[in-house]
Amino acid sequence: MTKQMPSYDYQLFVIGGGSGGVRAARVASGLGARVAIAENFRYGGTCVIRGCVPKKLLVYAAHFAEDFADAMGFGWTLQPAAFSWPKLIEAKNKEISRLSGLYETKLVNSKVAVMHGAAHLVDAHTVAINGQHVTAEHILIATGGTPFVPPIAGIEHAITSNEVFDLPQLPQRVLIVGGGYIAVEFAGILNGLGAQVTLCYRGEQVLRGFDDDVRAHLHDAMIKKGITVLLHRDVASIDKLANGSLSVALTGAQNTKLVVDSVLYATGRIPNTQGLGLAEVGVALDEAGGVKVDAYGQSNIPGIHAVGDVTNRIALTPVAIREGAALANTLFGATPVQADLTTVPSAVFSQPPIGTVGLTEAQALSQNREIDIYSARFRSMRHTLSGRDERTLVKLIVDTASQRVLGAHMVGADAPEIIQGLAIAVRMGATKADFDATVALHPSAAEEFVTLRDKVTRKRND
Ligand code: NDP
Repeated sequence: MTKQMPSYDYQLFVIGGGSGGVRAARVASGLGARVAIAENFRYGGTCVIRGCVPKKLLVYAAHFAEDFADAMGFGWTLQPAAFSWPKLIEAKNKEISRLSGLYETKLVNSKVAVMHGAAHLVDAHTVAINGQHVTAEHILIATGGTPFVPPIAGIEHAITSNEVFDLPQLPQRVLIVGGGYIAVEFAGILNGLGAQVTLCYRGEQVLRGFDDDVRAHLHDAMIKKGITVLLHRDVASIDKLANGSLSVALTGAQNTKLVVDSVLYATGRIPNTQGLGLAEVGVALDEAGGVKVDAYGQSNIPGIHAVGDVTNRIALTPVAIREGAALANTLFGATPVQADLTTVPSAVFSQPPIGTVGLTEAQALSQNREIDIYSARFRSMRHTLSGRDERTLVKLIVDTASQRVLGAHMVGADAPEIIQGLAIAVRMGATKADFDATVALHPSAAEEFVTLRDKVTRKRND
């Protein structure tokens, strides 16, 4: 779309070396643009450095506790297992450094000018970095997000997902505040690794926005694993005791005090737009500070664009990657491209994990549809011998009129792997009859999705 403008140092200057920014930079460069990118922390961004990737490594680590116990049901006799948090963190750090280096190498190999330092806007076509001014025809804000913590008394004693990955020791007693993705994921991780975990959520059930059956199923599973879940409760204040422990006063019916070693706040994330000079240049921000963009990723100022978490829309890595690629194609490809985000699957790496795609039961009903609901709860084959009391949930939401599958939800081992496959079918508009016509893959948990027979039909206000 854009013709080469030799008067600028670069055609695209990307601020932020996370998933969205890196993809935009590499695609733009591949399309022949002169591109530079700046990162003030480590290349890879939240996902690689202190998000999805290290989180999943910790999830694997935590799961071994149950794996060792389950093995006995299969004839194994094991020595008591011992876990070392410092060893895990060291191994995790090595892998994260490898990946971060890979991100930089790939940028360099893609002929992108890679810079280290905090960049900010001087005007709509000028960026200041490391005391220098650099000009660009287009500037992409891809600075991601940062943890939000409410301003309660003693909040300075709490940690967030920024710190939890690098604690020197595993805390023995942990309070996790929040009921979203990060809260339930870390509840599973820290519990699995041996900490005594309490999760405190202000609402009526964890994971607001997910299907209600999924929420209740995970809640029950968390309790079975020994996690204490306090609902309708919040933190009033945190005090540090002389011995270093934290005394936490909770709101709610009985004003409880908890003494823990660590308080992890997982109360959402906010766009990283402070100190970038956006307001000074006139870039419109939303109430949370996110850059407002159109469907192509352009802000209200021509030449200034944004993708990923900084736009405060869907804060997921694959979405940022799509948005970054679409923007690069719009700016330097043959035709403008909008990221197609019609059916975004999502996973929560709780224990057991959740996979979900499409509409929840409540969302489908709120659209005034009549829906057929199919669900099954069962004990997976593994647990017939392990003896573990853990159930898997699968659920399909089907539009009664068209028979199209509107949503697929699962809580259980491998749910994210299974739902990724089903997301293709749901996106393509598969009907319940298509699911039924698909031959089961036996024995698997996934086959339950093609053998669901008992339905409940519901309308709004039923
Ligand atoms: P979420 O938005 O998922 O959850 C935030 C939680 O904190 C909610 O339970 C919310 O309650 C609660 N909360 C918000 N403000 C307050 C407050 N002032 N006091 C008390 N509680 C509060 O955010 P996360 O931090 O867990 O994760 C951020 C985002 O990162 C996610 O939304 C997701 O997009 C992404 N992410 C994705 C992952 C994945 O794909 N597996 C993993 C981790 C993160 P309420 O429901 O009442 O608003």
